[in-house]
Amino acid sequence: MNSPASSASAAAASSAAASQAASLHLVCTACGAKNRVPRERLTESPDCGRCGTALMAAQPMDVTAEIFDRVVAGTELPIVVDCWAAWCGPCRSMAPQFEKAAQSMPMVRFVKLDTDAAPQQSARYAIRSIPTLLLFVGGREVARQSGAMPAQAILDWVRRSLPA
Ligand SMILES: [Zn+2]
Repeated sequence: MNSPASSASAAAASSAAASQAASLHLVCTACGAKNRVPRERLTESPDCGRCGTALMAAQPMDVTAEIFDRVVAGTELPIVVDCWAAWCGPCRSMAPQFEKAAQSMPMVRFVKLDTDAAPQQSARYAIRSIPTLLLFVGGREVARQSGAMPAQAILDWVRRSLPA
């Protein structure tokens, strides 16, 4: 869908132009290492250079509180975060829908944050009910949605919320 930036000046532009850059930074959800991936390789199942974990997994990836901030700040693709907890029934019922949405949107990273294990992030992002979905672009929260949703509603919400 996107073609690599053709001019050298584009590569030198601000991070706002990151979506057009020839390569992207992706932070590994398993070990927190920052990987640089050429845009044309994104669809070729790139693995983390440090630990070998898939960087563009079709399944939602669990991310720990320890590396969550690094993943959000250092990943140059939109990230949808499912803030959930094991005791939460609606969270469990939404999980397969979240997985389905993740498979339908390969250029958006879908991650899961266990709020019980992430009290700092829960407080910082004022997560008052779960499940809550957070959408991050360029390290900034651009949208949130609380309550369980079917896959199609998740996809519609993400598409609607992404900057043009
Ligand atoms: Zn890794």
